Amino acid sequence: MIREEVKMILAGLPQGVTLVGAAKTRTPSEIMEAIDAGLTIVGENYVQEAEQAFNKIGNRVKWHMIGHLQKNKVKKAVTIFDMIETIDSMKLCTLVDRACKEMGKTMPVLIEINSGEEDQKAGVMPDSAITLIKEIATLSNIRVMGLMTMGPLTTDPEALRPCFRKTREIFDHIKDENLEGAEMKYLSMGMSDSYKIAIEEGANLVRIGTRLFGARDYK
Ligand SMILES: *Cc1c(COP(=O)(O)O)cnc(C)c1O
Repeated sequence: MIREEVKMILAGLPQGVTLVGAAKTRTPSEIMEAIDAGLTIVGENYVQEAEQAFNKIGNRVKWHMIGHLQKNKVKKAVTIFDMIETIDSMKLCTLVDRACKEMGKTMPVLIEINSGEEDQKAGVMPDSAITLIKEIATLSNIRVMGLMTMGPLTTDPEALRPCFRKTREIFDHIKDENLEGAEMKYLSMGMSDSYKIAIEEGANLVRIGTRLFGARDYK
């Protein structure tokens, strides 16, 4: 089942668009099945879950942090992840930078945009993105590689289009600035119900869980 779904999604992605398998709640063996079918990037929301899967699966795939990173999990996170997609504050970045320095590693990060401009939601507000990126670009062990956004929870994927479009505009704007220390390469937008719309709006990383693995069973 998982194998067929992964193959079908991969076959349907335009060239230049990469699948991130959103693996929260999935077992290492489910993740392995997806990898055997061609998945090359696993997205995890929780450091502890990622660690369990990483210990079994290791470096045959890339690991992306796609959940909110708690400050007390930064040290462990930088040992597991190849990219952190959910950076939204200088404070968090400073901790990631310091932990990476100790390991002699440079962490690629995406800046999470609160594209729905919702209170209480993760991500930096669109108007503050450039300022944050300029600040982060001064850190030596972090490399800004693009943007990520979720958009509001909605049952109508079309409602996300303006949020994706806005994020794309910020992406292009920052790219045009040619900031030293920021290489705008990845735009991570879209999930199971919205990835096609996200791709139309310029996404080149799509984070898909349910469509690959089936409905999540939160016990
Ligand atoms: C769970 C999750 C996804 C995937 O959601 P699906 O609707 O299951 O495809 C994508 N991105 C993030 C940040 C997630 O937490």
